[in-house]
Amino acid sequence: MGIRNIDTALCDGCGICVEACPMDVLRFDGQTKKAFVKYLRDCQTCLLCEISCPVKAIYVSADYERRIPIPIYY
Ligand code: SF4
Ligand code: SF4
Repeated sequence: MGIRNIDTALCDGCGICVEACPMDVLRFDGQTKKAFVKYLRDCQTCLLCEISCPVKAIYVSADYERRIPIPIYY
């Protein structure tokens, strides 16, 4: 679950997603003029960034991804 991708080829650097995120996950890179994911672990899968991006550059996955623990053998 959570934000999975910002397509930098599509992102036009409007900054809307950075303002829209209530969890402060996203930041704006002043050099590349693109948004990027800074604090992935804080994402709450609210989808606000994906919905608000005017060029559909953001993909948020609402699917639960099961983390399978690696077995330890003694
Ligand atoms: S809202 Fe979309 S186009 Fe605007 S900065 Fe974010 S990812 Fe880029
Ligand atoms: S899904 Fe919500 S919490 Fe996660 S990055 Fe987008 S706006 Fe922020």
